[in-house]
Amino acid sequence: MNEKATYIVMLGPPGAGKGTQAKIIAEELGLVHVSTGDLFRENLSNETELGRLAASFMNKGELVPDDVTIAMVEERLSRPDCEKGAVMDGFPRTPAQAEAFDALLEKIGGKVDMVPFITVPNQVLVERLSGRWVSRSGRVYHALYNPPIVKWVDDFDGTDLYQREDDKPETVVHRIEVYYEQTSPLIEYYQNAGTLLEIDGTQPIDRVTEEILKGAKA
Ligand code: ADP
Ligand code: ADP
Repeated sequence: MNEKATYIVMLGPPGAGKGTQAKIIAEELGLVHVSTGDLFRENLSNETELGRLAASFMNKGELVPDDVTIAMVEERLSRPDCEKGAVMDGFPRTPAQAEAFDALLEKIGGKVDMVPFITVPNQVLVERLSGRWVSRSGRVYHALYNPPIVKWVDDFDGTDLYQREDDKPETVVHRIEVYYEQTSPLIEYYQNAGTLLEIDGTQPIDRVTEEILKGAKA
């Protein structure tokens, strides 16, 4: 039980900047960045059964089933590094996940404190995803909008960057559709809960960060 833990949920379509912002604000607020996409990719590179199962959905741009995803998040949040809370990136992504998350937090004595909802027009999302370069540790760059100092190399640890399998144009379009069908109902869910903070995601990265942090400290 920890009454003082803080939980922030990043909401927005694929490519809105959730991962980019989650990493920065988690560091700023001393919280853990929990990305379900990164956890699935980590499982895949470790060749676990969960990784293989997840990849069969991820490569098609479909969501991994709720029960598997919720169990993975529950395990992650039970680790000691999450004691002060977490910045959730890519979870919850369905109403069933949002309800399960509320129930889980209630059990551990927490609640969703803030939901930055980053809005970006579809056209921009496609440009962002097709130029996205990522590191194995989940750091995110963009070929034009947020380039590393040396092409294809992580500024921080010198490891190679790569393009995600599901950032191919045909998968990207389907992922955006899946977002509108399955994830966008969460906008109303968190609006009703009074935790939604809508932010214009077409602003520069540091402006978006400033608005989120202003909300977190308000
Ligand atoms: P998400 O996690 O929502 O899918 P990312 O944080 O991975 O989004 O960002 C998608 C792409 O857009 C990345 O290549 C990232 O560098 C770039 N990006 C993120 N925020 C901005 C921004 N405010 N302006 C321009 N490009 C951005
Ligand atoms: P993005 O940052 O572009 O939104 P993510 O890295 O969050 O992408 O997710 C990549 C893929 O991993 C999703 O398309 C989906 O297949 C799977 N995934 C990630 N999070 C979830 C989740 N909460 N529920 C179901 N599937 C998920």
